[in-house]
Amino acid sequence: MRCALVDLYKESVEYGYLNEKYIRMYLGGRGIASLILYAFKGFNLDPFSPDNVLIISTGLLTGTIPGAARTIIGTKSPATFGIGYSAVGGSLGFYLRKNLIDVIILRNTAKKPVFLVIRNNEVLFEDASDFWGLSVYETRRRIIRFFKEVPLSTALIGPAGENKVRFASIIVDEGRAAARTGVGAVMGSKKVKGLIVVGTGEVPVLNREEFRKLSANLSKKAVTNPAFTLFKVHGTMSLIPIKQASGDLPAYNHQRGDVDDISRIDPEYVHKTLGIRSGGCVPCPIRCGRLLRYKSENIEALEYETMDSLGPLIGVLDVQDILYLNYLVNDYGLDSISTGKVIAWVMECHQRGLAQKILPPIKWGEVERIVEVINAIAFRKDYGNILAEGVKKASEIVGEDTEKYAMHVKGLEIPAQEPRAVKNFALGHATSNRGADHLYALPCISYPHMWEKAKKYLQIPEEHKNIFTDNTEENYKALVVYFSEHLAAVSDALGLCKFYTNETLTYELEDIVTSLRVVAGIDISEKELLEIGERIVNLERLYLLKSINKAEDVLPERFIREKLPLPTRKESVVNLEVMLKEYYSLRGWSDDGVPRTETLERLKIEEEYSFDDIFRY
Ligand code: SF4
Repeated sequence: MRCALVDLYKESVEYGYLNEKYIRMYLGGRGIASLILYAFKGFNLDPFSPDNVLIISTGLLTGTIPGAARTIIGTKSPATFGIGYSAVGGSLGFYLRKNLIDVIILRNTAKKPVFLVIRNNEVLFEDASDFWGLSVYETRRRIIRFFKEVPLSTALIGPAGENKVRFASIIVDEGRAAARTGVGAVMGSKKVKGLIVVGTGEVPVLNREEFRKLSANLSKKAVTNPAFTLFKVHGTMSLIPIKQASGDLPAYNHQRGDVDDISRIDPEYVHKTLGIRSGGCVPCPIRCGRLLRYKSENIEALEYETMDSLGPLIGVLDVQDILYLNYLVNDYGLDSISTGKVIAWVMECHQRGLAQKILPPIKWGEVERIVEVINAIAFRKDYGNILAEGVKKASEIVGEDTEKYAMHVKGLEIPAQEPRAVKNFALGHATSNRGADHLYALPCISYPHMWEKAKKYLQIPEEHKNIFTDNTEENYKALVVYFSEHLAAVSDALGLCKFYTNETLTYELEDIVTSLRVVAGIDISEKELLEIGERIVNLERLYLLKSINKAEDVLPERFIREKLPLPTRKESVVNLEVMLKEYYSLRGWSDDGVPRTETLERLKIEEEYSFDDIFRY
């Protein structure tokens, strides 16, 4: 794997290769990003210090087989102060690998705003001073105009990243977001406006003949899998009616798990009203992305997480309003999930009459006021300066018992699942090393449509089908999350979209193992593959413990104490303690969530790593 080590201050680049030993142990993508972060030992750094690094790390399969579209952007997180990373699709990784660049490590801070232009297999510096202060779409428009017809990928920050909003994102291409853990704020702190990647070469593949056949087979497998039908037709917003029916559609800051009326956010209605086209990442035949023309711009928008976070969660129930808010957060470069959760917290504080001298008075669904709040956050104006710190810190600053209504884990705002309706996600949010996260485990193997795979991979007896697939109960969820976290880590290390792996298991372990051999010449067993996932999770746990000194595998009190009536008429709360105990035991961790020495030895995780051993000139 070729790696570019960029010193932003000196405007210099050194090229080298990653040590094969570590590629076999951590693969690429998230595995390598986490290893490099660990090796840099920045556990106690201020995330905005020039000594923090920002790592752009493609997966070992990125840009090759269908669904291998992801790139990881890793750093010490300014939101959680622990390990941070965000996975993003689009065409960024594809173009980077066309340039024979697998990993870019950004060190120090530039003296003036810069773009990093990647072309002809090199990283070049371009002055971005005239672009500093511009929004994402305006910046991209000017770049496209300059490069004319040349195919390229962009990864840009907007004003939120420049102003170091702790949940600022990096927007890739027309609206894919590396949104989570504040990676955009770290990019802004380094004065990098973005990456522009131009590439005409070919992504390297070891055995091209075998690769063609493999790709054709995998593509057929994907497009004929009924589990993908809804995503192909309506994208991820197809989840809205399903979640509404099961009480898993977070609404009004999780005071409810459904809304009174979804008619104006229903996928059929949205598609009829807005003239949406399918689009997606490179390479992928599923094309779950939603493309549309909006404000004279081609944008990608309205995926499920954003639709809930800027919709029912804050009482907005009309897609035209949600689309506007979605456009705005992309244009400013904000994480839509975190933005929604911060606003929902402000609204609940208003509903309860809390902190009204500091927070703006804003009611559920008041779109014009929501726009004002988003503006205030992106530019850190007035109360926006507090909100830009994220919901955890903002609630600590404001006090007055408002922390109770701040929906986060480890400082990262909770995505659009209702933990009391789906206990698989309740545990997954709590244990994720990067903070609340539906994708750290994406524990979908406990859904009824995955039953055959669950029997195969987790050896669940037939007679336990009902209790295993009942996600409103705690049974088996520790095992589900344990397995899913390993599979998710492997997916992120290889650059695989988790819709192909965790969500549907369209790619079974044998497909992944074969792909790894054909594309990269790495021959490992299915067991070794999952062990790599386990190694990544454990290394990230060590990073977390060294950074914030405790596990903090908790959930907001609301999910533990406030009963939520589900559509089945059952009232539900989360018994986290019972699931955690079982999970720690499976992991070989102590009751405080700390990996035991024998676990680390079994996984061959070293006490310290040296960057000089990982990176070779
Ligand atoms: S399924 Fe959707 S998110 Fe996954 S690679 Fe395809 S277009 Fe991208």
